[in-house]
Amino acid sequence: MPDTIFTPTYLILLGGPGAGKGTQAQWLMVYLGLVRVASGDLFREHVRSRTELGQSAQRYMDSGELVPDELTIAMVMDRLSRADCRYGAIFDGFPRTVGQAEALDCALAEHGWRIATVIDLQVPFATLMERLSGRWICSVCGGTFHATMNPPREVGRCDFCGNALYQRTDDKPETVANRIQVYMRQTAPLELYYQQRDLLDLIDGTQSVAAVQVAIRGALTQRRLHP
Ligand code: AMP
Repeated sequence: MPDTIFTPTYLILLGGPGAGKGTQAQWLMVYLGLVRVASGDLFREHVRSRTELGQSAQRYMDSGELVPDELTIAMVMDRLSRADCRYGAIFDGFPRTVGQAEALDCALAEHGWRIATVIDLQVPFATLMERLSGRWICSVCGGTFHATMNPPREVGRCDFCGNALYQRTDDKPETVANRIQVYMRQTAPLELYYQQRDLLDLIDGTQSVAAVQVAIRGALTQRRLHP
């Protein structure tokens, strides 16, 4: 964790694959001026660069299973130690297990810090399946689009940075179903974990992107988190 005289702001975006975490994180980065720490993106970078971690992670990712906690926690902590995280971070896709949540709490507590809020984007199983099958992602900035529900202005080009969009290989139907089941089994218990710590803000993730933003803004205001 970088040394800082500020109290950094840490937000978690919780929700199944395709719940809209990436889309909302993209907006929150600008709104709050914080970096996005997306564990899935970090793993994909490792796979692309053929690092040892990337090679270990790939088989889990290909089948939609979670990468073991030990590897995931070390990778995220390394990312958090970089200078651009000194004001805090928006976590997207991390933590995904109670073990990861505990490790994050411990790491923050060492500095006297804590999570400010957990935004839980709630979307039913069938809607997640439908969303993932039409998903397009920016290869450079991580911007997320959907062929019919949130199309980019120009087909195949990112609205935010103009780079090429691609479809993830793990967005194929067999893997998608497993990723959602893995979410229900291993990540959904985090709702209770954060509810018990009075950090959970439930948001209806089936609304339009703009309506979800309004709801998130309301939740942030309630917690006195202002840009
Ligand atoms: P995502 O882009 O968040 O959907 O993540 C893609 C894949 O990366 C997941 O299906 C997992 O295999 C792996 N992954 C991402 N984040 C985590 C995490 N916090 N814990 C374990 N595995 C993860």
